[in-house]
Amino acid sequence: MTALRRPLKALGQNFLVDGNIIAKIIRAAELTPEDRILEIGPGRGALSELLAQHGSWLTLVEFDHALAAALKERYAGNDQITVIDGDILALDLAGVLGAEPAAWKVVANLPYNISTPILFRLLELRGLFSRLVLMLQREVGERLVASPDCADYGVTTLLLGLWFDIRREFIVPPTCFHPRPKVDSAVLSFVPLVRPRVEVGDESVFRKVVKGAFAMRRKTLSNCLKAAELASPDEMYGILEQCGIDGKRRGETLSMEEFAALSRCLTTLQT
Ligand code: SAM
Repeated sequence: MTALRRPLKALGQNFLVDGNIIAKIIRAAELTPEDRILEIGPGRGALSELLAQHGSWLTLVEFDHALAAALKERYAGNDQITVIDGDILALDLAGVLGAEPAAWKVVANLPYNISTPILFRLLELRGLFSRLVLMLQREVGERLVASPDCADYGVTTLLLGLWFDIRREFIVPPTCFHPRPKVDSAVLSFVPLVRPRVEVGDESVFRKVVKGAFAMRRKTLSNCLKAAELASPDEMYGILEQCGIDGKRRGETLSMEEFAALSRCLTTLQT
């Protein structure tokens, strides 16, 4: 291995240096010897080293060329470990992992600067995974498990929560990393659902309703949905009434079932 270069802030490089936390992440992944594991951003390989001792296949995707090269060197000759020098957001992940349903687990300490786009990428490909165990910035983690009426509740809560059972496993303080991030981190597990948690009609409509409702947090639901132009103002008024939802409420007070009801009505209107 070549000498270690300074961690790159632009790539969200906060490396895990606490063996207990690494062991807890591995436990949370509930690995079996048959598991195929995808690790996003293996970095210097702190997690990879233990992952390699558990599942059957391990695929590592690292964007930092120098770190990817070092991992390739370390695992040369081990044909159960594949190191990909690439950007997880640009990679044809379905092409790399294959189409077999629920065949993979994802375990990762994500680069925090791009954790939300990575979450949405994994959401798109959820059918390929049986479990995800991800370290995120605590604040992002709180949003994923938030309940209606609290400040963290929003678009990610609803869009990810529609398709995953999400559980906060544990909090990780900055002292467990080098260099230390300024914020706490959280490890969460995600189990994909076979069907959406609630029937939403057309899912693209559900996404538009949710995004529209949170686009202007201070405005009423009725004003937000009017601005989103999902239906004419009269139609929107009728739909809110049909769903028994007061348009003066704010988006953050609506449950997932209420968003789903709005989405079903709007879907019917569009067909
Ligand atoms: N897994 C290591 C650990 O826990 O010590 C490193 C985690 S560090 C928070 C995030 C890692 O993701 C870094 O190694 C960084 O280079 C890598 N990374 C950043 N952007 C990436 C991208 N677009 N695709 C793949 N890896 C990326």
